[in-house]
Amino acid sequence: MNMITNHMPTEELQALDAAHHMHPFTDANGLAKKGARIITQGKGVWLTDSRGEKIIDGMAGLWCVNIGYGRPELAEVAARQMNELAYYNTFFQTSHVPAIALAAKLAELAPGDLNHVFFAGSGSEANDTNIRLVRRYWQVKDMPEKRVIIARTNGYHGSTMGGGSLGGMSPIHAHGGKIDGIVHIGQPDWWSEGGDMTPEEFGLMRARELEEKILELGVDKVAAFIGEPIQGAGGVIIPPSTYWPEIQRIVDKYGILLIADEVITGFGRTGNWFGSQTFGIRPHIMTIAKGLSSGYQPIGGSIISDEVFNVVAEGGELYHGYTYSGHPVAAAVALENLRIIEEEGIIDHVRNVAHPYLKERWDALTDHPLVGEAKLVGLMGSIALTPNKATRAKFASEAGTVGFRCRERCFANNLIMRHVGDRMIIAPPLVIKPEEIDILITRARKSLDECYAGLKEDGLL
Ligand code: PMP
Repeated sequence: MNMITNHMPTEELQALDAAHHMHPFTDANGLAKKGARIITQGKGVWLTDSRGEKIIDGMAGLWCVNIGYGRPELAEVAARQMNELAYYNTFFQTSHVPAIALAAKLAELAPGDLNHVFFAGSGSEANDTNIRLVRRYWQVKDMPEKRVIIARTNGYHGSTMGGGSLGGMSPIHAHGGKIDGIVHIGQPDWWSEGGDMTPEEFGLMRARELEEKILELGVDKVAAFIGEPIQGAGGVIIPPSTYWPEIQRIVDKYGILLIADEVITGFGRTGNWFGSQTFGIRPHIMTIAKGLSSGYQPIGGSIISDEVFNVVAEGGELYHGYTYSGHPVAAAVALENLRIIEEEGIIDHVRNVAHPYLKERWDALTDHPLVGEAKLVGLMGSIALTPNKATRAKFASEAGTVGFRCRERCFANNLIMRHVGDRMIIAPPLVIKPEEIDILITRARKSLDECYAGLKEDGLL
């Protein structure tokens, strides 16, 4: 076979892709008909495709490229680490400097007594670790019956059997099943489900479902509650202000463990190092991945409190670990990424420059006839598309049809903006500059206009 390179014609690359590469979360036959867009380069917030188009990445890849694409420092650190020690494990009385240094740095950055790190290769793996950790914690405390984990409908915690089961997305459960001992309560999505309540009333109501569930199951059966500070893949659902304080009260009252899944919200996304700080959450365990290495290497992990660590340690060996737990190259790259975030003041840039600038323009999109609400925390936002803003109505077409059509217009206009149902979402690299925000907004508005015109033309409005 000939060498496959960036210089091959796009159609040939697409044909090979369709023939041999099975994509995640993709209808393979549908994709084969359309052909994948082949991304060849990235720099800052910009991607280039095989046809030479310049695309602005409003999603930071999959919410992960926090420092932007193409930073040579990370490539240099990876090369240096590969030459020095490409791989070693941390299983059998061995360790290495990159894992030690990264764990120590994370303990310094994480709030409260979150001082211990168990490394994984991804967010899904880290959440699988968390299932074991919380169940083991109660076993060692001689309460093995406490093993149920309460999660939320439309939450997302990954795509392994454990992560997919913690997530509350029924299409994922439908493909392969769901592990036992995980139950779901309602999500704090006021726009779609809040009815006539105020957002604050609704936030309290949804949080109190946790208390009801604990009482229904019996506190002696419940190990933990898991939630994303802001649901990401569920559509950037920013909870009402009353939600997290009430969850925290309930978790404290019943003494169950709290896992904050910070895979998206960690490492500056919400304008603090962690979303837990933005929302005043005090978790026992935080799941991390994505922005930990800005996506330059696959790495995830669990940051664990003194209390949980000490109890699990008391129990002796934990029968759990991954070949790539604390992979030295991934750890070295993550450490360099954290240095850049810290030394370049990227979180201050989010708080003081990018967020305020984007917020004004994002909110202004609500003057568009399709846009009902615009929400943004840090650099994580969504707009709800609706045929009637006053009633927060849904479209007559199947849910997601309008969102998908809008995403197609964004794609055609060289803007990566995702849709979840009929919400459009963004999470650009944290280094985005005001002039790039202007381009993002101009393209978003154009795409909304084209989507609106198309819906009218097709009689869908
Ligand atoms: N948790 C959350 C909150 C996520 O958003 C994701 C990924 N989108 C995951 C877990 C799973 O991470 P990964 O895809 O790295 O397994």
